[in-house]
Amino acid sequence: MIMFVDVAFPISSFKVFSYSVPPALTKSIAIGSRVNAPLGKRSAKGIVVRVRRRINFKGQIKDISGLVDDTPILNEALWELISWVSDYYLVPIGKAATAVLPSRFSTGYSPRKVKLVSLSDSGDMSAVDKRAPAQLKVLEFLSERNSPILLSRLNGIVSNPHQVCQKLSDLGLVHISKMKTLPVATGFLDEPIHKEISFNKEQSKVITEISSSIDSNKFSPFLLHGVTGSGKTEIYIEAARRVIAKGKSVIILLPEIALTPQIAGRFKSAFGSSVTLWHSKLGISERAWIWKKICGGRFKVVIGARSAVFMPLKNIGLIVMDEEQESSFKQESPDPRYHAREVALMRGKIDKSVVLLSSATPSIDSYFNQVKGKLNKLQLSKRFGGAKYPLVHVVDMNEELEEAGNPRFIFSSLLQEKIQDRLQKNEQVILLQNRRGHSPVVRCLDCGSMEMCPHCEVTLTYHKKGNSIQCHLCGFCKSPPPSQCKNCASDLMQLSGIGTQRVEDLVKHTFPDALIQRMDIDSAKSAKTISSTLAKFGNGEIDILLGTQMIAKGLDFENATLVGIINADTGLYLPDFRAGERVFQLIYQASGRAGRREKQGEVVIQTYSKDNPVIQSASKLDLKKYYNVLLNERKSLNYPPFSWIAKVEFSGKQKQNVESVSLAVLTSLPKPYSGLDILGPAYCYRERIRDNWRMQLVFKSNKEKDLSGEKLHAFIKNGLKTDKLRKTQKGVRITVDINPVSLL
Ligand code: ADP
Ligand code: ZN
Ligand code: ZN
Repeated sequence: MIMFVDVAFPISSFKVFSYSVPPALTKSIAIGSRVNAPLGKRSAKGIVVRVRRRINFKGQIKDISGLVDDTPILNEALWELISWVSDYYLVPIGKAATAVLPSRFSTGYSPRKVKLVSLSDSGDMSAVDKRAPAQLKVLEFLSERNSPILLSRLNGIVSNPHQVCQKLSDLGLVHISKMKTLPVATGFLDEPIHKEISFNKEQSKVITEISSSIDSNKFSPFLLHGVTGSGKTEIYIEAARRVIAKGKSVIILLPEIALTPQIAGRFKSAFGSSVTLWHSKLGISERAWIWKKICGGRFKVVIGARSAVFMPLKNIGLIVMDEEQESSFKQESPDPRYHAREVALMRGKIDKSVVLLSSATPSIDSYFNQVKGKLNKLQLSKRFGGAKYPLVHVVDMNEELEEAGNPRFIFSSLLQEKIQDRLQKNEQVILLQNRRGHSPVVRCLDCGSMEMCPHCEVTLTYHKKGNSIQCHLCGFCKSPPPSQCKNCASDLMQLSGIGTQRVEDLVKHTFPDALIQRMDIDSAKSAKTISSTLAKFGNGEIDILLGTQMIAKGLDFENATLVGIINADTGLYLPDFRAGERVFQLIYQASGRAGRREKQGEVVIQTYSKDNPVIQSASKLDLKKYYNVLLNERKSLNYPPFSWIAKVEFSGKQKQNVESVSLAVLTSLPKPYSGLDILGPAYCYRERIRDNWRMQLVFKSNKEKDLSGEKLHAFIKNGLKTDKLRKTQKGVRITVDINPVSLL
C-alpha cells in the first residue's frame, strides 16, 4: 500500500512538507507520530499531521527516515486545534506546534536513578573501625529503620555519606541498591482535602444544567457567575465526576499557581491518582513524562495554567476556566499570543464538550456574551452555608496623611485597629499590596529625578534582599543602590512608593508578636514554598498573610476574617482601556477572601481616590452597577466588547527604523473598510523595554459592521501579508496580537 504523510517541523514556516512512507512503517505511522525526515540538507524531527493515499506533487518525493517513538504524541483533535491557533493568531504552524509541545517536540525522559541503602543481614560489626565515628553514626541510624532509605537522607548525619556507605558496603555491613524514580508533579498539598458535600438548591440547579449538557455530547459554553464563596469549586468537582463516569477527560485551568494547591487538593481527594498538574514550575523532564503519560491515557484530569489547554487528552468532556477574567490566561510572548479562553472555546467545539467559564467577577467580555446569549448563564447568587458578605470600610488616605503628618504612612488607624482586634481574637488577616519589592521609586529629594532602568522606560524598584535596585521588566539589577543623584549629585536619595517588602517591615514593626508571611513572586520561588505557606496559613501558623494579587483570589480560609487593601488605587490610572475593570475585579476578589464561614468578615480599603467610580462600586460590591457603567463607557469609545481589536507592534534598537517601518506598514495597508479605525503608529505606553523601542498600530473594528471579527482578521491577514512582513525588517520586529488584553 502506498502512503504519504504531511509533516510539520518546529520551524518558522506556515507550510507542512510531504513525504512518502517506506512500506515497513505504514502500519505503525499515524497522525501525531514523531518522525525523522530529510529537511533541506539535514535530517530533522517532525510530527505527522496528515496521512493520505494520493498526492498532487510533480517533483521527487522523499521517504521519511524513521519513527522516533512507538506511539503518537498528539491526536487528531489536538492537531486541528493547533492548526486553528496558527490560523487565528497568524503564527506559522511549526511555531504554534512548538509552543504547545513540550520542549521542541521532545518527550524523551529517562528516569533518574537514586541510591538506597540498608543494613546487611549478615555482617560482622566488629569489622567497623572504632576510630571511624561517621561509619558508626550511619550504622546506628540504619539500625533504627527496617526498610532501605534514600542514601541522600544521610546528608544531615554525616558529611560524606557516599564515601562512608561505600566503605561500609566494602566491609559487607550495608547493602546499596539503585532505584528509578518517577517525577512528581509538585504543587499538591501534602494531605488531600476531604469534605462532606451536600448541595443546596441553587447548586443543584447548576449541576443539573451542566449534566444535561454533558449528556448531550454537544459543544456547550457556559458562564458560571457565582459570588465568592458560593461553592464554584465543588461544582467543578461534581461536573468532572460525571464526565469521568462517561469515560471522558477533564481540563481545569487556573490563572495562578497560588491557587493550585487548594483546588488540586480537593480534586485529588475526589479522583486520586488520575489527577495531574501542569504548570510553569515543572521541569522539562517532568513535563515530558506527564505529556507521555497523558497520551497513554494514564491521567483523566489535568489541572494547570493556561498551556494546560493544549494537553493531549483524548475525548474531552469538560474544560473549566476558573477566574476566567484573569489576564494571565493570555500569552503575551513569545508567539502565539493566544488567550486560553478563546482556545478553550475552540477546543470545546472540536471535542463537542462543555466549556465552563467561571468567576465571581467575569470579564466584561464574557459578561456581555452572556447577556447576548452567546454563553449560557449559570448563577450562584449566595455564599454557601449562609456566610454573610463582608462589611466594607473605605478609608480616605488623603485625610489620614494630614492627620498623621507622616509621609511614610502605610496603615490607616482604622486598619491598624482592626488588625489588632483580629490578632487578639486569634483570627487571621490577609493584606493585599499589588506591588512587589520594597519601594518602587528611588527619587532625588533635591531635583526630583528618579532612578530609571538603563534598558527600559521604567523606574527601578528597591529590593531589601541583596540591597539592590531592580527592573521588573527586564531583570536589570544594581547593588548597592546609588547614594548620589545622577542628575544633580545630591545625596538626598529617598525611597518612595510602597511594595510588599516595605509593608512587611512595617507590619513586623507594628505587630511584633504576630506571625507574618509575605507571598509574591520573590518569596514564592517554587510550587513547594507556595503550598507550604498556604498549608501554614490554613493551620493557623501564620497570623497575617501579605502579598500581591497572587493571594487576592480563589483562596478559601475559614478563619481569615479581615482583608486589608493597602493601596486600592494601584493600576487605576494606567492609560489602558481595561485598567478600571482590572482594579474593580481585584478589589472585589480580595474582599471575597474575608469571612467565608460563620464569622463575619470585614474589609478595609485604603484609597486616595475615594470618589472614583471604580472604588465606589467595588467597595459596595455592586458588580452589576459597575459593569453597566463600564459597558456604556466601552460603547462610547468603541472598545471591546463593542469592537474587535488587534495590535501590531514594532520593536527594535534603532528608534528611527522603528518609526519608519511602522509608517511604511501603515501606508502599505489597503483602504480600511467602513467600521474599521486604525490608530497610530504611536509609541507604546512603555516606550522602551530591553533596549527596544516600541510602537504600535491599533485596529478597531466595530461589531455592528463586523459581527464575528472575520473582516478584521482578513484585513490583517491579507493586508499585512503576514508571512513576509513578520520577518524582521531593518532590525525591526513586527508582531501581531489578535484580541490583545492590554494596549500598554
Ligand atoms: P468559590 O470557589 O465559589 O469561592 P468554594 O468552592 O471555595 O467557593 O466554596 C466555599 C466553601 O464552601 C468551601 O470551603 C467549600 O468546600 C464549601 N462548600 C461549598 N459548597 C458546599 C457544599 N455543597 N457542601 C459542603 N461544603 C460546601
Ligand atoms: Zn537630583
Ligand atoms: Zn529594564
